[in-house]
Amino acid sequence: MEIIKKSKRMVSTSELLKSKGEKIGLVPTMGYLHKGHISLIKRARAECSKVFVSIFVNPIQFGPKDDFARYPRNFKRDCSFSEKAGADYIFFPSTDEMYEKDFKTFVEVQDLGNVMCGRARPGHFRGVCTVVLKLFNIIRPNIAYFGQKDYQQLVIIRKMTKDLNVPVEIAECPTVREEDGLAVSSRNKYLSSDERKNAVVLFQSLKLAEELIINGQKNLEIVRKAALEKLESNPFVSKIDYFDFRDKDMLYEIERIDQKAARILIASAIWIGETRLIDNILLENNF
Ligand code: AMP
Repeated sequence: MEIIKKSKRMVSTSELLKSKGEKIGLVPTMGYLHKGHISLIKRARAECSKVFVSIFVNPIQFGPKDDFARYPRNFKRDCSFSEKAGADYIFFPSTDEMYEKDFKTFVEVQDLGNVMCGRARPGHFRGVCTVVLKLFNIIRPNIAYFGQKDYQQLVIIRKMTKDLNVPVEIAECPTVREEDGLAVSSRNKYLSSDERKNAVVLFQSLKLAEELIINGQKNLEIVRKAALEKLESNPFVSKIDYFDFRDKDMLYEIERIDQKAARILIASAIWIGETRLIDNILLENNF
């Protein structure tokens, strides 16, 4: 496995591989890899002839109160995990390499980026889209792999690539969970052991909402109320950013279940103590 730190070298490596007919898969990450990331790398390994993992904690997607400085990092371990999962290359640029001093261009997907996590974290998706488009231009993958865990990010990146004619296929990968159902996340590391035990309430509240809908509740305000009650009754939940029902493609709000609401995204973001966690469930209209 080769580690590449410079964009220029990355571009020439990628171009050479593509001229030989290689199919390039990219897994963009912020590092501190866990089994969620590993599942993406393994899927890329199965579908592509060359697998790239990018590791870059992107400063411009963090707000002033976010956890950029304390975001967990462990490059050595990331390298060994990536190699074991089947990566051929790691792209590991510095912040200066990605953002030169006079950097002035940003990518913004309107509307989709202003709801849910976008409302709670203004500018977050602008930062995400900007870095992802840069990574696409530098690594030039045929397929890029993203997790359903960050579902809004996936929808926004798909829209960006479509709107801007970016020649990359976006692959959607299922959320990997711990045994109790908590979605695996680099941020779980921040949780104390009591917080960790209680963090599963996020997944449980999503499952409760799913169950109520499957059992016939069509009024989603009633479903939301039940889910919020579950979250609010847990003493470790310090804040609820949102608990939403949305169209899975366009992210508009859904208030009632009807025939048109074919696939619903149930998504939530909460704080356990000082740690912000997100999760979601996709509900097929087969109930
Ligand atoms: P991050 O390093 O948090 O930016 O995540 C990099 C990629 O891994 C994103 O596409 C995430 O959606 C994906 N990812 C993170 N956690 C999980 C998980 N538990 N299951 C599946 N994919 C995940």
